[in-house]
Amino acid sequence: MEDLIALCKRRGFIYPSSEIYGGISGFWDYGPLGVELKKNIKQLWWTDNVQKRDDIVGIDASIIMNPRVWEASGHVEAFTDPLVECKACNKRFRFDQYANILCKDNKPHAQKNLTEPRVFNLLTEVFLGVTEPKQKAYLRGEITQGAFVNFANIIDSTRVKIPFGIAQIGKAFRNEITPGNFTYRSREFEQIEIEFFIRPDQKESEKWFDYWKNERLNWYKNLGMSPDNLRFRKHEDTERAHYAKDAVDIEFKAPFGWSEFEGIHNRGDWDLSRHNLKYKDQETNEEFYPWVIESSGGVDRAALFFLINAYVKDEKRVYLKLHPKLSPFKAAVFPLLSNKEDLVVKAKAVYDQLKQKYSVAWDDRGNIGKRYAYQDEIGTPVCITIDYDSLKDNTVTLRDRDTTKQERVKIAEIEKSIAKILL
Ligand code: ATP
Repeated sequence: MEDLIALCKRRGFIYPSSEIYGGISGFWDYGPLGVELKKNIKQLWWTDNVQKRDDIVGIDASIIMNPRVWEASGHVEAFTDPLVECKACNKRFRFDQYANILCKDNKPHAQKNLTEPRVFNLLTEVFLGVTEPKQKAYLRGEITQGAFVNFANIIDSTRVKIPFGIAQIGKAFRNEITPGNFTYRSREFEQIEIEFFIRPDQKESEKWFDYWKNERLNWYKNLGMSPDNLRFRKHEDTERAHYAKDAVDIEFKAPFGWSEFEGIHNRGDWDLSRHNLKYKDQETNEEFYPWVIESSGGVDRAALFFLINAYVKDEKRVYLKLHPKLSPFKAAVFPLLSNKEDLVVKAKAVYDQLKQKYSVAWDDRGNIGKRYAYQDEIGTPVCITIDYDSLKDNTVTLRDRDTTKQERVKIAEIEKSIAKILL
C-alpha cells in the first residue's frame, strides 16, 4: 500500500488535498493521471449503463437540495454512525472499527477501554444566504435522492416504462468519523448509481436483485479485476441501512482486508413512498409505489482498487497492468534520440496523428529504457519508438507493457493495433 501511495503521488495520480497548508483529513486531489483514470471509469460506466441500454436514462441532480428531502428520506434521523472514544489514548473513531485502529501501545483497541457509543450524523451541514438567520441545508450524503425526487419529472418528460432505471454520477459528502486507508474512506467522494424501478413484487425484486449483482460484478471482471480479488458479502439483518430490505456488497481483497466498493440494495418502496411518488401503469391504470433495486458504487474506491489490482512488482520492474480501457494514456511516442531533428519531426507527426483519437504521451527525455520504466509505472499499454529505420521504411517499434515484447509495425497500422487492445 505504501508503495502504491508513493507511486500515486510521484506520478501524478493522487495528491493530499491542500497539502501546502498541511492537508485536510478525508480529502484528496486527483492529478493529471488520476483524473484520466477516473474519467475512464465514469465514461465506461456511462456507456455500458446508459448509452447502450434502452431501459436506463441519466440525470445530473444538484448537490444541495431542499433539506426536506433528507427528512423524508430518513437521513436526518438515521444516517448515523456510532462514535466512541478510547479512555487510554483519547482517540475518537467509529465503534465498528475499533479493532482496526491502534492504541498508544501500538496494539488494536480493546472494547473495554471505550466510552459508550454516541450516535453521530454523517450529513455535512452548510448555511446558505448572507443575512441571519441563514438557511441550513446539507451537502448530499448520497447521490441517490436526486433520482427519486426527479421520478415524476422523468416519467412526465421521457417515455420510460417500468421496469426502468435512472443513472447518475456525482459527488457525495459524508462527515466520516475516521477517514482513512488512503482514498478508501474520504469525506468527499464520487458515486456511480443506478436506481432501477420495478413492480412491487417480492419475486420480481429477487430476479432484478440477482440480475444487478451479476451485471455489476462482471463489469469489474471485464475491466480486469481478478476474480480472486472479488467477492459478494450479504449484509446481516442487523447491519442493513435504514432503507434496505436486502443488501449485498461487492468487496475487493485490499491490503487492509476485504472491503466494500459497491452495494446492491433492494430498497423496496422505502424512498418513493416516503416522498409520496406513485407510478401509474398506462395500460392497466393501476397505481403503485414502485420498488427499487439499486446499484451504488464509488468511483474513488473503484479507482483505488483498479490500481491495487494492477500493481505488479517483480525482480526487474514495477508496472501497472491496467486494462488499456482504463489506462490514462493508451500509448506513448518516443523519438529514439531527442537531438536528431529528423527523428523528432517524424515522431511528432505520429504523436499528432494519434492524439486526435486517443490520449497519448510524448517522451523524449533520458534513454529508451528509462522511458519504458516510466510508462510501465503509469500503466501505458503500448510504447512506440521512431528510429532510423522508421525514416527509411515507415515502420516503428511497438513495445507491449505486460510482456515487454517488441514488434515492428507500419505507421499506417498503429491505430489498428491500438484499437485492438481497446476491444
Ligand atoms: P461503508 O460501510 O464503507 O461506510 P456504506 O455501506 O455506507 O460504506 P454506501 O452508502 O452503500 O456505503 O455507499 C455506496 C458506495 O459509495 C460505497 O460502496 C462506496 O464505493 C462509496 N462510498 C461510501 N462512503 C464512502 C467514503 N466515505 N469514501 C469513499 N467512497 C465511499
